[in-house]
Order: sequence, then structure tokens, then C-alpha cells
Amino acid sequence: MTALPQDILKVLGSPAVLIAPDERIVAANDAAEQVLGKNIEGRHFITALRQPVLLDTIEQVQRDATQRETEFLTTKDQHDITFRVTCGPVPMPAGHGVLVSFEDITPMEQAGQMRRDFVANVSHELRTPLTALLGFIETLAGPARNDPEAQARFLKIMGSEAERMNRLVSDLLSLSRVEADERVRPVDDVDLVGLAQQTHHGLSHMAREAGIEMVIDVPDSPVVVPGDADQLRQVLNNLTENAIKYSGSGSRVKISIGQPSYENRLRETGVSLLVSDTGPGIDPIHIPRLTERFYRVDSHRSRELGGTGLGLAIVKHIINRHRGRLRVDSQEGVGTTFTVILPVET
Ligand code: ADP
Repeated sequence: MTALPQDILKVLGSPAVLIAPDERIVAANDAAEQVLGKNIEGRHFITALRQPVLLDTIEQVQRDATQRETEFLTTKDQHDITFRVTCGPVPMPAGHGVLVSFEDITPMEQAGQMRRDFVANVSHELRTPLTALLGFIETLAGPARNDPEAQARFLKIMGSEAERMNRLVSDLLSLSRVEADERVRPVDDVDLVGLAQQTHHGLSHMAREAGIEMVIDVPDSPVVVPGDADQLRQVLNNLTENAIKYSGSGSRVKISIGQPSYENRLRETGVSLLVSDTGPGIDPIHIPRLTERFYRVDSHRSRELGGTGLGLAIVKHIINRHRGRLRVDSQEGVGTTFTVILPVET
């Protein structure tokens, strides 16, 4: 018994249609009907497939019976979808037909776009300090050659531009390291209370300089979670540094840790680590995008404060690796709280 083409196509998960030598569609599976419309079986392929590039490709395969690939673009629920389409000859009683099969390559296209955006962003971020450095080098070699005062001033600015590049490269390295081992569960026992105390101590000078009061509210005994101590230290550091940087003189920054309890969002026992400030707050429209790489609410202010736009992206990846959650609550004019919820069991 020979299988009918319709029956073979039905088994395929991705869209596929078979065009007979008389140019009519003899078989289309459900997935194809979702993309191309219902009841396309029996119709001439031109009325069902419509896109000129695809139609040209099919006609070429009809002519020379050689397999070809092309793309088919469509939209679903207002999202663009890209299919890679393979058109290949199939022997049939009255000549050869064409099997047209579709593969959704949208995720690959999106990943490619993300990579291109990332490279463009990194280049842009590096170019700004680099342009400044080149400008100062030229001035030092020319007009300011015999002006020690200007030289000292320019060297200071050059130093801070070079530091900006250095910070960016360190953050990029951290990000790629964190991404690389995102699927490797951290297993060390880490005491969050000790880490919070270290962060408080380490950043107290920065807070004082910025005119910020920094307080810590943690349990008396250790709160231990399975984790990577360096990475959790970086989470606390990035969140606390942000709170200090963005809240402005006269504000208060608080690091606190709760007692382990059942966490709905984790569906298991977890512990909350909070970094809150009484700064200007963040407009709610920005909150969902804060952890994107290079996303800043106010680029000028972030750069002025030495930000790279990567701090929260690093935080998000570290928390993912720890199977935790990050929540941001903010009210403009009142302040912002970043809450990290971490599971307490491996
Ligand atoms: P950056 O290097 O710019 O600080 P981050 O990824 O750490 O990058 O933060 C992204 C953006 O989120 C910042 O540019 C800032 O606009 C905003 N932000 C982060 N923390 C706070 C905070 N505590 N208060 C107000 N805005 C904040």
C-alpha cells in the first residue's frame, strides 16, 4: 500500500504543502493552513502562496527539478515571523510536483539581531571615550605642548575616560562569564548576612561622599543559601551602588534581609534581600526594561555617574543562575526598592 501525500504531510509538525504537476495544491497540513489560510487544497498555488519571491522559486523548481531555498515573511498576533522555505521536486505520476516546507527561523533571526545590536552598542560605548582620548592626545601633542596647567587638566580627564573604558570592559567580561555558567547551579553555602555587612562596609565611604545615609537591617544569625559568593556579592554591590548613585544627596539607602519563609513566586522556601532608597524613583514605563543590556533611564546621568548600563543585566543573569527572582518597586518622588528572592535549598 502506498501512503497518500496528505497523510505524510499531516505527520509533519511544521507547515508543508505539495503542489502537483498541474500546479494545484494537492496536500497541505494543518500547520500550513494556519500560515496560509484554510481550504487551500485544490487551489492553484499562486493564489495560496502569493509572495513573489516564493512563487519564483517554485516555478524554477518546476522547470529544472532542482531543490532551492528561500524565505517567507508573515505576521502572527502582530509579530513578524520569518520562515526558511525549502522547495524540492517530488516525482508524481504526471511529472514532478513540488514539496514546499516551511521552517520557522524567527528565534534565530532575533538572536542574530540581538547580536548585531549588542555589537553596535558596545562599539558606540567604546567610541565615545576613545574619541575624547584621541582629541586630548592631539591637543597635548600640539596646542598644549608647552602648557603644564592644561596638560595636568587634560591628563586627569584622560584618566577618567580610560577608567570608563576599563569599567565597560570589566562589565562585559563579567556579563559573558555569568552568561556562560548560567546553567551551572551554584553549590557553595553563602551567608547573605555576612555579604550584606561587607557591602555596607565597602560602600560606606562612597555613600558618605554622596551625602547618603546608609543603613543595614539584617538578622543576628547567618542566613545561608546555596550560591556563588562572588556573584551574590556583585548583586548586592551593583544594587547598592545604583541606589547611592541615583538617589541623590540627603537620601537614605537601606540593605535588609528577611527571615526565610515560603515564597509564592518560587513555590518553595526563600529569603528576600532588599536594597531600597528614598531617591527620585523610576517611571513605571522603564521598569520592565531596566535589566536589558545598555538600557538606561537617563543616559546622560548614567554616564556622568560612571555607569556602563550593564549593572542590572549582570544582576539579572546572576539571579537566574541562582533560580531566584528580581522585583523592582518604585514610586516617583518616594524611592525604589530592588528585592532579590533566593531559594534556600539546593
Ligand atoms: P548603569 O550603569 O547605567 O547604572 P544599570 O544596569 O545598573 O546601569 O542600571 C540601569 C538604569 O536603571 C540606570 O541607568 C538608572 O537609570 C536606573 N536605575 C538603577 N537603579 C536605580 C535606582 N536605585 N534609582 C533610580 N534609577 C535607577
